[in-house]
Amino acid sequence: MNTGSKPDISRTKSAELYEKSKTYFPGGVNSPVRAFKSVYGTPLFIEKGDGCYIWDADGNQFIDFCGSWGPLILGHNHPKIREKVTEVMQNGMSFGAPTALENELAELIIKNNRFVEKIRFTSSGTEAVMSAIRLARGFTGRDKILKFEGCYHGHSDSLLVKAGSGLVTFGETSSAGVPKSFAEETIVIPLNDKTAIEQAFTQFKDQIAAVIIEGIPANNGLIIQDEEYIKFLRKICTDHGSLLIFDEVITGFRVGFEGAAAHYDITPDIVTYGKIIGGGLPVGMYGASAEIMAHISPDGGVYQAGTLSGNPVAMAAGIATLTELNKSGFYKDLNAKAQEFVASIQRFATARNYKFKVFTIGSIFWFAFTDKDKIQSADDIDAGSMEKFKIMHRELLNRGIYLGPSGYEVGFVSSAHTKIELEKAKRAIFEALDL
Ligand code: PLP
Repeated sequence: MNTGSKPDISRTKSAELYEKSKTYFPGGVNSPVRAFKSVYGTPLFIEKGDGCYIWDADGNQFIDFCGSWGPLILGHNHPKIREKVTEVMQNGMSFGAPTALENELAELIIKNNRFVEKIRFTSSGTEAVMSAIRLARGFTGRDKILKFEGCYHGHSDSLLVKAGSGLVTFGETSSAGVPKSFAEETIVIPLNDKTAIEQAFTQFKDQIAAVIIEGIPANNGLIIQDEEYIKFLRKICTDHGSLLIFDEVITGFRVGFEGAAAHYDITPDIVTYGKIIGGGLPVGMYGASAEIMAHISPDGGVYQAGTLSGNPVAMAAGIATLTELNKSGFYKDLNAKAQEFVASIQRFATARNYKFKVFTIGSIFWFAFTDKDKIQSADDIDAGSMEKFKIMHRELLNRGIYLGPSGYEVGFVSSAHTKIELEKAKRAIFEALDL
């Protein structure tokens, strides 16, 4: 039943805060997508979060499916994380010296993850990936990196590049301030295209240090690759002495404790994590075999450091989070709940013949206004359909549902979403689709 558009929620206080923030920060924000440029209205200034709910400065309450862009797999303000962080903070917040907490988090990761023997903590996903690239170059003695169009790996210079036209291209920078010569070390090809990668290896024989891919590409919609294609990547890297880097900043500890690598049963040479391992505090990490990691300073010649790397408060949040995730049945329950949620949305849309697909894996979902059954490369996405997302986003906010403010962003279900909230969200989504 078409219930019509809902009146807009009040954004008076958010609007006031935004006016002020614009005097302090470019675009009023400290990370661009927060500025709501791709959706309607003023960005909402969030005041608090608890469980699967967030509240903005005007007192509006939302069921949150953004989860701080992925880290909050346990929901907001989880008591176990809050208690551990509060306990650790009583002893001081940073020493710039080793602490037992780093060992504790490392042990949780390494003992339960077959893909890393040694790791290094950083303070963000960007730093983790940037360092992994440097390690790959240092290890192989080669300079070029191959990445895929539609994969995001943070904002370091060599990765802020996108493809031009043609099968194999050198990257064009996607940001002012990135020297052309840096971008020239980055080869960009489309996802899901074997010929393009074969051609790249023919053309740049013995020059490619690493192929980097998001474990499951989730930054430009959710572009799920076939296992066979990922296995092909593994083989071509091995055949050419190039390293395969899985950027699991989103998928790590999200699709399972061992991320996309375990999902595909593929062993990457280097893995990067972020988001969830910090439980909402700033942490990133890269890891590999002991042999590869021996190249990192002070053991080896690849320099990488950080004033706040391994910060005790952030480690505490990570320990509390991963301890919960490591409990038997955690992912089975979360993924089953999320899959039931998205399946019923898809059933609703299909029954009404709407041009709408929910692409999903584990507790990640992406709403796409398309009738394609598969989206496997950036080119498969119809940019024009984003107008429909824009309307849906506003209608959902007006019904108390918070999605990331762009149609290219995925959503996340957390363990804090109960059947009650998922039912409520479903009803709101049905209404928005019916408009
Ligand atoms: N890699 C992937 C796959 C990401 O999704 C992100 C951020 O969204 C990053 C790297 C960069 O992480 P951060 O924003 O913590 O620097």
